[in-house]
Parts: sequence; structure tokens; C-alpha cells
Amino acid sequence: MKLILLVIKLPALNGIKVKLFLSLALSLFFTVTSCERSIHDIHMESFVADTHNDIILRAMEGEDILSFHQETQSDLEKFKLGGVDLQVFSIWVSPSNVNNDEEYFQKANSMISKLNFLISRVPDDWGLVKSFQDISYNNRKNKMSCVIGVEGGHIIGNKIERIDQLHNRGMKYLGLTWNNSNNIASSAKDEVLNINSLSVIGLSNFGKKVVRRCNDLGVIIDVSHLGEQAFWDVIEQSKSPIIASHSSVFSLCPHYRNLKDDQIKAIAKKGGAVFINFYPGYIDSTFSKKADLVDSKYDIELEILAEKYDTLSNQYWFEKMKLLKHEKAKFAPNINDVIKHISYVVDLVGVDFVGIGSDYDGVEIMPTGLENVAKLPFLTKKLIENGYTIRDVRKILGGNFKRIFKEVCK
Ligand SMILES: [Zn+2]
Repeated sequence: MKLILLVIKLPALNGIKVKLFLSLALSLFFTVTSCERSIHDIHMESFVADTHNDIILRAMEGEDILSFHQETQSDLEKFKLGGVDLQVFSIWVSPSNVNNDEEYFQKANSMISKLNFLISRVPDDWGLVKSFQDISYNNRKNKMSCVIGVEGGHIIGNKIERIDQLHNRGMKYLGLTWNNSNNIASSAKDEVLNINSLSVIGLSNFGKKVVRRCNDLGVIIDVSHLGEQAFWDVIEQSKSPIIASHSSVFSLCPHYRNLKDDQIKAIAKKGGAVFINFYPGYIDSTFSKKADLVDSKYDIELEILAEKYDTLSNQYWFEKMKLLKHEKAKFAPNINDVIKHISYVVDLVGVDFVGIGSDYDGVEIMPTGLENVAKLPFLTKKLIENGYTIRDVRKILGGNFKRIFKEVCK
């Protein structure tokens, strides 16, 4: 318990102290008994894959994510402490921040270039993945495999050839929509909240071509953020397994970003998997209302921020998170609530169809016990405490994603 308290207080300390405390807390926690030690070993020896992380947004703002970073949920050091072997880095361009489709595509390409630049800075630690063999190679060399996942089909506009261009640069999954609907499909948010504004509900004719092109190239279709109608159209159209790269369970937390039981069953039937999003708003149905109350309590501070930064900018978002995260942490769900979502999928369709899609650095706050990516060994500990065998834990941690990657991307 003491160690947990230490970690909660970390943000008050400077970066170096935080780093030392974090690694000390992790190693001490797992060396308390020989049994605990072996759980840490199990985690570090397992292939750990996380299918969604937004840290490149920080790097685009000039922040150094290759050194320990006090404000972020992930960075080079935290990935190592978390035992991450494969990380999908999300390429996401805000739909509100550009003037035309061309600019979306340029910005997405700049993000990919940034990731390549970062990899070139730490060639002994990170390696880009263009094929399944690259994953095996990186694993042998003890390097983290960096995978490109595009979030939001708006970046291709109406040009199918852009899928080929992104694939050439390493795109391994395409999230057909983000919260905004686009030329490809209707989003979950719009199907639930703005249905009357939609010209097409479901997958458009262009969207069907996009699915076919992804299938042909070996790009995994990601249905997180997709509306239900669009989801079922994808199930009908896709010849390959599909994934939800960062979604949780609707039955446990009824949010439009989560998946209903019949959707989870359909993903499993196709050989894909659901990668559980840790964001408290998708894990605990009471979180969002409480978080909104915090926002309104800080409306003056937020107004001052809005005068300083464009409210659509990443900088505004980063500063807002910094301001509110400690207050929101007080009522965040905990690691056991994340385990409930994983177990729900396991009970519904089996252990072969679930994994981790954390959304680190894409959301303001994470559950207690999983505050940043360095905490992932605790997830293994909890899974084992909940009766999962080592074989099953390894499937959840990364084996299932590896299987799907091998089948679809080759
Ligand atoms: Zn997302």
C-alpha cells in the first residue's frame, strides 16, 4: 500500500526523482516475495502488445518522449518498465484543425515522419514494423516494435490511393472513423448523437472500396469509433479478421464508444479481437458525469487557458489535462475494473479474442493502478490473481494481437 501511495504522489516531485521512485516502486513491489518476483518475470518474458497510444501527439509539439517525462503516461523509459514489446502508435489528425483533405494527409505524414525520426534516434531500443518478420527480429534484438495505426479515415479524403501510400510507409491498421463521420463511414458518436446530420449511415460505397483495398494490402480494419450500422457493414464486407483497437464493453459501461455483446461475438467469429481501452469514461459508467462536474468547477481557469491557446490545439488539451487530472484521479476506477472488462470478453467469447488497447496519452487520466504504461506488470499480477493461467495471460498481453497481425498483415 505504501508503494501505491508513493506513486500517487509522484507528480509533485521532479522528473529524475519520479523516474527513480517509479522503477524502485515497481522492482520493490515485485521482489517482496519470490512468488511476486516470478509474476514480474512472467510479465517481462511475455510478448506484450498495446494496440493504441497517442504519445506522438506530444512529440509533434516538440516534447522529448525519449527521456523520462513527468507529465506523460508513456515515454521511452516507461515503455521499458512496462515491458512493452510492441506498441501501436496512433496517427491522428484533429478533424477541426485543418482547412482541407490535403492538409489532413500532410499532417498524418508528418506524424509518421516524426515516429521514424524518433526510431532513428534510438535504434537499439525501437524498430519500425513493416512485416511480421520485423516483429520477430525486433524481439530477438530486444527492441520495441513500433507499429503505425491510423485513427480516422478522414485523412485519406476521397482518395483510395492514399491507403497504398500509407501502407507503403508502414500503416498496419486503419480506424475507419474517429468521432467524426467521413467519406468512408458513420461514426459511433454521430450515429448516437447526430444521426439526422448524416448523409450516409453505415459504410458508404467508397467505404466498401476502402475495406476491400485494406483487405488486399494486408491492413487490419479497426472498428473502434465506428457506428453500429457501419460496424455491421464492415462485418459483412471484410474478408479478413478485424479489430477494435481501443474499445471496452458496453454491457459494463454503456457508452457509444464501447461494444455490445453481439458486436464482440461478431469480431471473435471473424478471428479478430477487442483490445480493451483503459480510459475511465469507458470503464466506469459513473466517471463522465463526475468529470464534467470538475470541468465546470474550473471554468474560470479553463477560460484563462482558452485565452492563451486555441481550444482545438493539442497545447490547450495538454494544459487542461495538467490542470484537472489530479482532481479527476480522486474518483477514477481502478485496475480491478479494467480486469472486469477483460474477463467479460473472455467469458463471452473466450481468451483468444481480447487484448490491451490502453489509449495512453490519448486521454486525460487512467485508472488507479494503471496510471501509466510502466504499470502494465500489475495487470499481469491481477490477471494471475484472478485465476488466469500463464498461457492465457500471454494471449491477453500480446499473443492475440500477434496472431491477428500474422494472419492479416503477413
Ligand atoms: Zn480513439
